[in-house]
Amino acid sequence: MTNKELADLMYPHVTKTIEDYEKIFPKRNLKDGAMVSRYAPSPTGFVHMGNMLSCFIENIVPKRTGGKFYLRIEDTDQKREVAGGINNIISAMKTIGLSYDEGVISEEEELGSYGPYIQSKRRDIYHAFAKYMIENDLAYPCFCEAEEIEEIRNIQKENKERIGYYGEYAKCRNLTNDERAEKIKAGMPYTIRIKSRGDFNKRVKFHDEVKGDIEFPENDQDMILIKSDGMPLYHFAHLVDDHLMRTTHVLRGEDWLPSVPLHLELFDMFGFERPKYAHLGLIMIVDSNGTKRKISKRKDKDFAVKHYHEIGMPSYAMQEYLMTIANSNFEAWREENKDKPIEEFPFDFAKIGSSPLFDYSKLVNISKNYISTLSAKEVYDNLYTWCDEFDKDFLELITKYKDYTIDVLNIEREQEKPRKDFSCYSEIKSYIWYMYDELFSDVTYEWQNINDIKEINTILKTYIDKYYDINDDKDTWFSKIKLLCDELGYASNIKDYKKNPDAYKGSVVDVSMVIRVAVTTKKATPDLYDILKLLGTDRIKTRIDKIK
Ligand code: GLU
Repeated sequence: MTNKELADLMYPHVTKTIEDYEKIFPKRNLKDGAMVSRYAPSPTGFVHMGNMLSCFIENIVPKRTGGKFYLRIEDTDQKREVAGGINNIISAMKTIGLSYDEGVISEEEELGSYGPYIQSKRRDIYHAFAKYMIENDLAYPCFCEAEEIEEIRNIQKENKERIGYYGEYAKCRNLTNDERAEKIKAGMPYTIRIKSRGDFNKRVKFHDEVKGDIEFPENDQDMILIKSDGMPLYHFAHLVDDHLMRTTHVLRGEDWLPSVPLHLELFDMFGFERPKYAHLGLIMIVDSNGTKRKISKRKDKDFAVKHYHEIGMPSYAMQEYLMTIANSNFEAWREENKDKPIEEFPFDFAKIGSSPLFDYSKLVNISKNYISTLSAKEVYDNLYTWCDEFDKDFLELITKYKDYTIDVLNIEREQEKPRKDFSCYSEIKSYIWYMYDELFSDVTYEWQNINDIKEINTILKTYIDKYYDINDDKDTWFSKIKLLCDELGYASNIKDYKKNPDAYKGSVVDVSMVIRVAVTTKKATPDLYDILKLLGTDRIKTRIDKIK
């Protein structure tokens, strides 16, 4: 029986050839040097910031070159799949603000002319490539069952030999086509293995965009390309998809690095142009005590992208942060190029560190800085969007008091050195709730040095009756607090108080604190003058009257 006859027996339904597919998915018409990259996750549930680091790099890199970035779903291992996995991936990308030119846009829809972009829908394509391999003696069906593979393994262990299906151990490699056909006709399950031409004693060299020049022994393992259920394994899907989707750059986890010799062998067998590889080290977490460790799906729930969506972390801040992990010279560049879009940063694969570190406190700082640069209206709009999904009660309040809320958000904002309070939109309510009467009930006051209610009442009554005037400018307002201090035996000048503390009941700091806590309950707030002005005399009075 000829190879062609065997191939027809194995794949009677395959009608298209590789040439047909090459015509359907031609070389992309892009300018020279344009990069085509992809994010190719398996929908296994937990999408974390480490995944988003590679997705972010894949997204940003083609932009500068006029290239393309697409999303491909690698769902050939259906045992590992999780319901809703595809949507998780898509919403994670949205949370980080990563858009794509082509690919899967929902469980049912896709965009672009190089699809299907979901591997389970590409069965026919893989089979056409497998058929070609059988026809050309580049692959063969293997009928070994799990026990036989285990047996081979045990012999190899005993003989202290390399483990695997290669050389004399590759039993099915030497079956005749007639024997193969007979087994297939008898309904025996089989996998498809590459008929490797590699020699373990020879070296294969390649350049990794991140790790530099690398050398490995050639692949001589007859690895499985297609499982007995007809689905491809990663290696084969990588060859077929990245070729037909015309990927130029394959960025992926460094756990795939040892597979490169096999991948190169496959690309070479078909005479396809090899993609450029960039292997990314495993992202590590920096714990609060400074130690580095691996991500744990169980322990690091906060590492899931979903968490950042829930707390309303701005995607801009997350991208800025991811770029600091991706290229350590980014921060210096950003310092010099404050207003430039991130895609203008001259990203360099070679500057990716060997094990990227995720430092949550740094992300928080970047985000605080970023939010502080937004206008009050922008913060309001973002807060609105967040509340719309996560806090309908607060949404009602900020909608009812829209202009007032914008004014509240504008305290110590839209100025040269804005206040850096919030790192995410879920935090805002905890900073400004006291500005809403609806939320100002059952409160607990954070009184400080002055905590005697009688004295507190004296200070507050005297203040509101004699000294507070909503029309005062800030200087007048403060000088009146000083007058209040003088009247009640508090030092209106801190220096005087420090020099001679026994001569006073306390200082202007203590008195201001009483006013602050009375109207907000809190010992730390933004500018008190602004808070009082926004609350207005009546509300200040009502709040003062509440203190018993
Ligand atoms: N689905 C593979 C993974 O999640 C993708 C690797 C690649 O990007 O090629 O590891």
